[in-house]
Amino acid sequence: MDLYTKLDVLNQIYKIYDAATESLEVACQKYCSTCCTRNVTMTSLEGYKIADHLIENSKSELFKKIKAKSYKKRFQPKITTNKIADLCIQGKEIPDEEIDSSWGSCPLLINDECPIYMVRPFNCRCMVSKTNCVDKAEMDPFVLTVNNVFLQYIEHIDQHGFSGNLTDVLLFMESKDNMKSYIMEVLKNPGKELIKNLPMSILFIPPEHRQQIKPIINSLQTIF
Ligand code: SF4
Ligand code: SF4
Repeated sequence: MDLYTKLDVLNQIYKIYDAATESLEVACQKYCSTCCTRNVTMTSLEGYKIADHLIENSKSELFKKIKAKSYKKRFQPKITTNKIADLCIQGKEIPDEEIDSSWGSCPLLINDECPIYMVRPFNCRCMVSKTNCVDKAEMDPFVLTVNNVFLQYIEHIDQHGFSGNLTDVLLFMESKDNMKSYIMEVLKNPGKELIKNLPMSILFIPPEHRQQIKPIINSLQTIF
């Protein structure tokens, strides 16, 4: 799959997610930004899409905003969603990862608004809470399952790429050379902050959600 096909598939995945969740009753609204923490992660494909948007829309100053706060602690995953699914299916232990919302807000956030809202990564799109969040979102267990499935598909289409914290992925994609290497799929060692994506070997869906999620899986399969 070339880059433009992958970006097209990513957009279709976002649309399917929006359609699947549009009827949910949620407390989310404009200027609600408790969920906009420093801990958001994304794939390199999503990072490419956002970096390209910043460059093409004269918003490159946002890279400086990210860099200025890059000394701060943030969630830097050691394991991807597809690896977690593989470990779960094998009955193996999932390593604990340190994550704390008190580490601060997303470096992109401006006056409680997202300056990249139209191209935000899936991990931002999938924050849908039934109640106003105080410390954390109250997510429906089925929505959590759906979110994981979408994360698996997005990692799968970017299986030659990497994942990491929003700060690390976007600072990596700020470099034109890195963007080019990414397009050509010749990135070998993108740095210790980013982790290698994996193809999806099995979808991790709890038995109680297997029937309910079928229409969504069918929609996703139409684009693969
Ligand atoms: S997930 Fe919570 S903080 Fe984020 S927009 Fe929804 S209600 Fe607001
Ligand atoms: S990218 Fe936008 S939506 Fe996502 S956490 Fe940052 S400000 Fe919030």
